[in-house]
Order: sequence, then structure tokens, then C-alpha cells
Amino acid sequence: MKALLEHLGLDVVVPPYSSKRTLSLGVQHAPEFACLPLKINLGNLIEARELGADAFIMAGGVGPCRFGLYAQLEKEILYDLGYTYESLVLEPPDMGILKFLKEVRQIIGTVSWWRVWQSVRIAYRKAYLIDELERVLQELRPREVVKGTADRIFSFSLSTIDRAKNNDDLNEAFGLAKQKLLHVPTDDNQIILKIGLVGEIYTLLEPFASLEIEKKLGYLGAHVNRSLYLSEWINEHLFHGFLGKKNMNRQFKDYSYPFLNHFVGGHGQESIGASVAFAKEGYDGIVQLAPLTCMPEIVAHTIFPKVTKECGIPVLTIYLDEQMGQEGVNTRLEAFTDLLRKKRALLDPLRTIC
Ligand code: SF4
Repeated sequence: MKALLEHLGLDVVVPPYSSKRTLSLGVQHAPEFACLPLKINLGNLIEARELGADAFIMAGGVGPCRFGLYAQLEKEILYDLGYTYESLVLEPPDMGILKFLKEVRQIIGTVSWWRVWQSVRIAYRKAYLIDELERVLQELRPREVVKGTADRIFSFSLSTIDRAKNNDDLNEAFGLAKQKLLHVPTDDNQIILKIGLVGEIYTLLEPFASLEIEKKLGYLGAHVNRSLYLSEWINEHLFHGFLGKKNMNRQFKDYSYPFLNHFVGGHGQESIGASVAFAKEGYDGIVQLAPLTCMPEIVAHTIFPKVTKECGIPVLTIYLDEQMGQEGVNTRLEAFTDLLRKKRALLDPLRTIC
């Protein structure tokens, strides 16, 4: 988003990385029953205001979960707190393409549509290359000799990709980061588990919200693959495959039908479909992440016992909220990966694949 808006000539204020302070600001002012992403976002908006932001853009939404309400709620809470913020709610194109274009025009002012398209292309390419690096990172975490080496290279590469102003800079930053990652020393004589990470989009993509569960699983010896990567989601859900070729192996909704055959809001249906697909690919287990009270993921959670029974894949569900502690999560992940190792050693030949 930063790349997109800067390319359009707008001044962007990026709030600090989400932290305990961010969450605490959100928890203080949001309704207790609101989902975790709303609380963190509210904290982000307060911190951005402190840094001088005077307007924010928030996605709207349609569908059975509460997301569509959140932009309005955030606006009203900030107003009540006395923050003078301009705000713009960008409703999805499905609500009417003309309305959507009118809202975009309000943000971009007189900038031409050609420039908008170029900005979308460079922003999408940044997201795509970061996802490519993340896939390499996910392979390296369980194998690297000194834990954390690949993560340090990745964090550094985020800033070089951020600074890239055109495709040449971007390719150079990406190529350098990938080369560095490929030279990280690894120990290849160990059993690597394969774990699919599924669930609600925000907790899947924002490490702070999930207490860095993806990284922890990697350090516990698991090669993690997520059901959702940001660039894939942008291309397939916002641009219907217009920015790049769809990955037909990852059309997870299609796999959900025997278990759940309709949209339940958020990514509940994809969570089921991706778990079935991962089971078919021989993964050892699934970890489902969801903010506490997340309706679509609660629906998926109730269906998982059937997926486990028919596909022979264990599922660990972790609900996240402001009460979660690091140690509790670590213990559950350690126990889960230990059990998966034992299961692989004892039961593999008997495994049922749906
Ligand atoms: S998908 Fe879940 S966490 Fe996100 S807004 Fe909907 S209910 Fe809340």
C-alpha cells in the first residue's frame, strides 16, 4: 500500500510496527467483543495520528462477518476520542464498479488512470517478490544451522525492496536477497515436518497478531506453507487474475466442497479447502489461526474433526486475542510438533488420504 500510494504522489505515514503499545491502545478503546484485528488497527491509527497522519483509507466489506462494520466503528471511536481524522472507506468492487471508481478518484485526485495502473503494477510486484522470498524463508527456517540467520536477511531485504523506485531497482534488491538466502548454511540431515497454516487473513499475514507462530513452527523443524499469500490474494480476489497467472494448484475453495459448500464469510471456506489440499499433498498437520470470536473460522473449526477423520490429518486450532501469552503458545506448538513426529514414525503407512 505504501508503494502504491507513494507512486501516486501521496505523502504516506507508516505507523510503527505493531507492538504491545499498539495493542494496548486498541484494547483500551475498542469494544471488548471486537476481533483482534480491529483492536490492533485502531492502535495503528492512533499511532499514525501521533506521527502526523491526517487521513486514513480503510477497506469496507460485504458478507456475513463483522468486517464490513469495522471502518465505520473505527471512524466513530476515533471521533469520540477527539482525533481529527479524514477517512475514506473503500468498498470492494463487487458493491458496484462505478461507486468503487468514484471512491478511488476521491483518493487520487487528478492523477491519470494510466499512472494508477503503473502504481498498481509496481506495488503488486513488490508484494509478489516479497512472497517469493517468504517461500524461500519458510524452507530455510527448519534447516538453517544458526536459527534466525534467514530471518535477519529477510528483514533487511524488506527495506531494500521498500526503497526500490522502479523495476530495475526492484529486481536488483530481490536478486541480492535471494542470493544471500540461498547461501545460508543448512543442516540437511534431519526430519522436516510439513505443516499447512490456514485461517483468518490478518492473523496469517501479520506476525505480531499471531505471536510469530509461523516463525516458531519453522524453528521447531517444520516447513510451513500458508493457505494465503498477500500477492496471490491481491491478484485473485481484487483483480480476478488480471495482474498475473492464477496458480491453479492453489484454488483451495474447490477442495472444500465435500465438507463445506458455501461462503461463510472471511476465509472459512478456504481454510477447509486448503487443509484438504495439504492432506492430499502429504502434509503432516494443519495449524488453524483465528482471532477469538471470528465467525468464519469458528464455522471451519467445527468442520475440522470431519476433515481429520476422512483425510487423516491432525489440526491444531489456536484462537488469538489480547490475553494470549507467548509461553502458552510455545508449549502447544512444541507438543503438536512432537506428536506429528511420533505419528509420522508410527502411522505413516496406514494414513488415509481423502
Ligand atoms: S474475518 Fe473474523 S476476524 Fe476478520 S472481521 Fe470477520 S469475524 Fe472478525
